[in-house]
Amino acid sequence: MSKNLDPKCKQCRRAGEKLFLKGERCTTPKCAIVKRNFPPGMHGVKGKSRQSEYGLQLQEKQKVKREYGLLEKQFKLTFEKGKTQSGKAGENLFRLLETRFDNTVYRLGFASSRTQARQMVGHGHFNINGKKVNIPSYQVKIGDVITIKTGSKKSKLFAGLEEKLKKAQIPGWLNVDAKELTAKVLHKPNIEDIQTNFNVQMIVEFYSK
Ligand code: SF4
Repeated sequence: MSKNLDPKCKQCRRAGEKLFLKGERCTTPKCAIVKRNFPPGMHGVKGKSRQSEYGLQLQEKQKVKREYGLLEKQFKLTFEKGKTQSGKAGENLFRLLETRFDNTVYRLGFASSRTQARQMVGHGHFNINGKKVNIPSYQVKIGDVITIKTGSKKSKLFAGLEEKLKKAQIPGWLNVDAKELTAKVLHKPNIEDIQTNFNVQMIVEFYSK
């Protein structure tokens, strides 16, 4: 599968905010947004030029796409799928992004970034309802039980996970059993469940042109 090869911190600097693409480093003073919060290629902070409405919508779309680690085609397909569902297209897009299996693994605290979550899923470390699922774009459903494969539990990828999970902030649509290292999807995610930093309406307007 092709992927965005742009350096992760550059993607954040271009977006002008943290997209949390590098796991634990993102919450430390080493974060490039903390140290150099200006677009790559510029030498220091300059006054921001006024952007057109289209430019702002494009920027918002790019930001969310990068945050979830999708390429344009995947992102647009997700938006189109959301449009065919009942309800508001923007909220459907948000829900489809959140319920991707890689994002769910990240939200559960099983991985420190979405990139790591995608690798873990791709390497087949998880079961859903007892069956191996190694497709990052798989959509989890209400009632799904996510477990770490028995053979993977001893991997250093999951070392100290129980302690990490006890401190993790898990969104309300998910439930995790830190001791058993299992999780369950309780309900569909609502925007209020998650502290989002993005404006879905701007993305809807961008694709409606
Ligand atoms: Fe973005 Fe994380 Fe790099 Fe900070 S450390 S710029 S949040 S990827």
